[in-house]
Amino acid sequence: MTKSEKLIKLNNKILRCSQCALCANRGHVVFGAGNPDAKIIFIGEAPGKKEDELGVPFVGSSGRILDKMLASIKIKREDVYLTNICKCRPPENRDPLPEEVKECWPWLKKQIEIIQPKIIVTLGKYALNSFVPDTKISEVHGKILKIKIPKLGELKIFPLHHPAAARINKKTRTLFEEDFAKIPTLLKNKKEQ
Ligand code: SF4
Repeated sequence: MTKSEKLIKLNNKILRCSQCALCANRGHVVFGAGNPDAKIIFIGEAPGKKEDELGVPFVGSSGRILDKMLASIKIKREDVYLTNICKCRPPENRDPLPEEVKECWPWLKKQIEIIQPKIIVTLGKYALNSFVPDTKISEVHGKILKIKIPKLGELKIFPLHHPAAARINKKTRTLFEEDFAKIPTLLKNKKEQ
């Protein structure tokens, strides 16, 4: 079975998920989008209003920033894979609760197991702390963190600020842009692969 076929099969299961309370008010499950053979996967927090309406990740204001940043490093959206820690929208865009993150984690783990990306870019503190708990994004953004996760082996996490934070804070935007510009070098660097 190809990675694409495996992802389709997995996504069909995610679409029927009712493992946490977020299933009650969702418009769509937003399981992810992009290239099943991607070398890089971007992981945000949870779908927003627009994502929930369309069932597609990163299509709102944060998505526009992400698209702009991808264009700046000459990578197309369809060359990467985009998803979130939680696949359903929290009401009023509140932060996902720890139990929601915990319930949704196995889906993300399976996506990573199938795609086997070289680098995992976490966007924001929730995505970062799902992989590396008790770590401050202010201390580790823009640095590769190597971690081991059962069944997934060694993962290379590249934490970035969330595009939404970059949108509202000028200083964060500068850091976000500087960190983002390191991605092409990381992808070329054999040591990071
Ligand atoms: S957020 Fe995740 S665990 Fe909760 S219902 Fe949606 S897919 Fe299932």
